[in-house]
Amino acid sequence: MKLKHRLITSFLIIMCVPFLLAFLLFWGITRAQKDQEASQRRALYFANSLSLLQNNTSNEIEILKKWADKNPGNFKKESLIRKMNESLQEKHSFLIQREGFKILFDGSGDDIHPNYSELPEFGRLNDDETLVDTIRDIPVTIRQVNYGYGNGVRGSVFVFTTANKLLPEGQKILFDYLLSALLILLFTAGVLISWLYGGIMPKVKKMQKAAEEIENGKLDHVIDVKGSDELTDLARAMERMRKRLSADAIQKIEAEDAQRQLISNIAHDLKTPLTSITGYSEGILDGIANTPEKQEKYVRIIHSKAKEMNALLNELSIYSKIETDRIPYNFVPLDVGEFFQNCNEEVGMDLASQDIGLSYYNELAKGCAIIADPEQLTRVVHNIIGNAVKYKKPEGNLSISIRLRDAGDYVQVEIEDNGQGISKEDLPHIFDRLYRGDKSRNTKVKGSGIGLSIVKKIISDHGGQIWATSKLGEGSVFYFVLRKHTEPVKTGGTA
Ligand code: ADP
Repeated sequence: MKLKHRLITSFLIIMCVPFLLAFLLFWGITRAQKDQEASQRRALYFANSLSLLQNNTSNEIEILKKWADKNPGNFKKESLIRKMNESLQEKHSFLIQREGFKILFDGSGDDIHPNYSELPEFGRLNDDETLVDTIRDIPVTIRQVNYGYGNGVRGSVFVFTTANKLLPEGQKILFDYLLSALLILLFTAGVLISWLYGGIMPKVKKMQKAAEEIENGKLDHVIDVKGSDELTDLARAMERMRKRLSADAIQKIEAEDAQRQLISNIAHDLKTPLTSITGYSEGILDGIANTPEKQEKYVRIIHSKAKEMNALLNELSIYSKIETDRIPYNFVPLDVGEFFQNCNEEVGMDLASQDIGLSYYNELAKGCAIIADPEQLTRVVHNIIGNAVKYKKPEGNLSISIRLRDAGDYVQVEIEDNGQGISKEDLPHIFDRLYRGDKSRNTKVKGSGIGLSIVKKIISDHGGQIWATSKLGEGSVFYFVLRKHTEPVKTGGTA
């Protein structure tokens, strides 16, 4: 149940249940009253306190009236009068008997004592009348029963009832009702609180526990809360947050693993040329290279290994710049044909020394230009061609071709090799950071898995796109497109 509905229901319960219970209780109390008169008295107390006072002593008045009618001789018997007074005292009342002007009996106590001279004269009140008066500020009711003996002697019995003595009884009734009201309220509040508590607290506790687990880094604690209220929505949001944090944590661990792997690969890749440099330089120092030809050969090897190391370190430095998005670009308008012609010449010589053929086709119109950073674009070409060399077939000749094609508003560059090719499984991932093809990981070919991610980043920072097609065992083609620059370009300033 929604929290909102739960609160509305609570409100209705608060409004209705106490009334219902009060009614039942009142009805129950009234029915359970064995003493009918007491019940009436209680009921009347609230309706009419004067009636109550009258009713209070009605039995005694009736008896006195009977005496007056049928047996006035009883008024002479002091024992009977005394007994009657005792009976009245139980009802917070007392009597005074007056015959003629003489007071025969006074049942009043010390605390309340009526002034005899103020007593109503004979016959002043009839049997059903009640006089309300005060004696020392205490409200009293006075009833009068008149009698006569037939010999001319007349008397009156005055029945006094003190209201202040009835007060404790009233207070008791009031107390009963207040207690009942309190019990009803306590019951209603108890039911409500347990209902609200039962609907809210288990969920709050679950979420609190989950939050503590998350705080302690335990992200596998599933927050399982069922329902359709606002708290359940909150718990579900927390569960989504937990899943997200958990996924991020896993990703972080994977990234750290990849980083460690990268460092170990780079360390390994640096170690090999360094060992060669150390070996060949020692060869020169120890005089093993004892002819000028040998010495030149050793120095060349040292030079090429140093270049290899330099390239590796460059790659690492550019990688760290990619990670922090800090590649320093220097964009200038470039004549595409001229730039790739220079590239072709530079790389071609190197490749030729390794018996690798490089062909170059330019289908672009003369003067076709792009806006690019020549240094970073050279890095792109070097990385792609470097990979072609790294992943050539163990046997057979490697040949690479660079083609420049016109693709409308774009220049399309294609670099094709006839090397090992890339498997269908690896192909969608080769541009991912730190990804190394399955085969590459298991061969002696060194690599860090960052070359093509750098290439992709540079091309996309140039506003272009890159992709590849490949057939395992036949070779690969790398394509990238860059938007043409429409302004004419001054020739001569290329890589
Ligand atoms: P690295 O060469 O350091 O492993 P790269 O990011 O340069 O990392 O390349 C990613 C993967 O793509 C390589 O591990 C390799 O499996 C595959 N690959 C890239 N270029 C070629 C290519 N010309 N021929 C075959 N496989 C290639």
